[in-house]
Amino acid sequence: MRNSEKYVPCEREQAFLDSVQNAKYNREIITGIGKFITGDVPEDMKTFYSQLELDALAELDGSDRDVAARMPVKITRHYFEQAKISRPMQVLIKASPKETMDLDGAEDPGKQMDYSPVEGLIHKYELGLIYVASTCSAHCRFCYREELIAKKEVTRPDGTVAPKGLAQISELIPYIKQHNQLVAGNNGRHPETGREKLREILISGGDPLVLGNKNIATWLAALAEAGIESIRIGTKELAFFPDRFDDTFFDMLDKFHDTYPEINLRFMVHFNHPDEFLKMAPDGSYVENAAGGLLWRDNTRRAVRKLRSRSWINVDNQAPIIYGINNDPDALRIMQRELKRNGVENHYFFCGRDIVGHKAFNVPIEEAWRILNESQKGLSGVEAHARLSITHYKGKTEVAAVTNEAIPGLPGAENGVVIFKLLRSAADAPERAKVTMVGRNPEAIWFSGYDDRVLMDEAGLYSLYGIELFGHDKAA
Ligand code: SF4
Repeated sequence: MRNSEKYVPCEREQAFLDSVQNAKYNREIITGIGKFITGDVPEDMKTFYSQLELDALAELDGSDRDVAARMPVKITRHYFEQAKISRPMQVLIKASPKETMDLDGAEDPGKQMDYSPVEGLIHKYELGLIYVASTCSAHCRFCYREELIAKKEVTRPDGTVAPKGLAQISELIPYIKQHNQLVAGNNGRHPETGREKLREILISGGDPLVLGNKNIATWLAALAEAGIESIRIGTKELAFFPDRFDDTFFDMLDKFHDTYPEINLRFMVHFNHPDEFLKMAPDGSYVENAAGGLLWRDNTRRAVRKLRSRSWINVDNQAPIIYGINNDPDALRIMQRELKRNGVENHYFFCGRDIVGHKAFNVPIEEAWRILNESQKGLSGVEAHARLSITHYKGKTEVAAVTNEAIPGLPGAENGVVIFKLLRSAADAPERAKVTMVGRNPEAIWFSGYDDRVLMDEAGLYSLYGIELFGHDKAA
């Protein structure tokens, strides 16, 4: 039963909200593969898919392998303009029959519903993630929120089945306040879950920037009033529609800062490939900037500059390494260097999640580790901050090392080992930095690829599922 009680902003909050202006945007979005199939798109977009590609997609329409039912098709003109000459961007945005050749995968990747005490909130660590929108300006084919965006039914821990819902302020704010009160009254730990104070919220979706300024402002102010100290906004709008970062948006952010000067804002942006933000010559090469570095697309550069000119805003990039898009050390090297040079931190690269259809996208774990490390050769220390992360049910985990050499005397380690390090346990901060070591399997694209070769499991990534150590004698 959802809370129907209306959320009432306080005076300070209302004064801020009254000052916010909405604006209208024309993203020139094409939604649905059907429009490409029927030719109901602008003239210059008609050849974006070949006839062969469209025929193959049309054949799957309405079948078990319907590609658009797995993940709806959507593209902005801004993205299209560069995708015309960028193969990686085409792979990111164009639907392909390959996506549904193998529909293996989790209906709720990371079992997020286990961590959802309130609809639309995923509460892990001292951080909460909230879904405030169920779409983005365009859709990445590999999307790790495909179940939310395609509105698929998901089984909850209590056995009920329903699509994931969005967070409501009237439900979320009382939850945050109550959680933090209980923590404060119990020596810094929640009496039942043991969790710490909820002090950060990641506003996510979908993309929060598809919402109007007033709507975003309502979330920011309500979270600040509830005692949240740091607010992150997860967005790919710098790649899909950078003009969204207009004067009305910055005016809203500035007024928010004036009203709540202690709140840190962090934009978690999502570039997969440098083609998404660098100027490209018709032959696909980047354009040297005579003053240093490479030239950026003007509106993306303007948006990043405006974000970074505000000392209370941080900008971090994080992206999965996806087959055919950015499994390319040279591209990732250029991306990390250019982002850092322009004030964007390189935070995480991810191994793709076990979403439905993940085999069409995911690069094997050991290969992703090699690509990232190869890409960081030639980068300076500050440019090479990013780590390779893979999200385990227990929490965010780093692929910390992959060795080529055997560990002498250790059965199962003849071909080298992979070391996972738990970065944050979803349940309990003290578990940080515990490790798990497995024998190598170059084919593995998920943790399960190592089930038969676990050598050491201090982090409990496998014992959680009753998986025993390699060579363990069951009869003993
Ligand atoms: S931007 Fe993120 S949430 Fe949106 S489609 Fe891409 S991966 Fe999914």
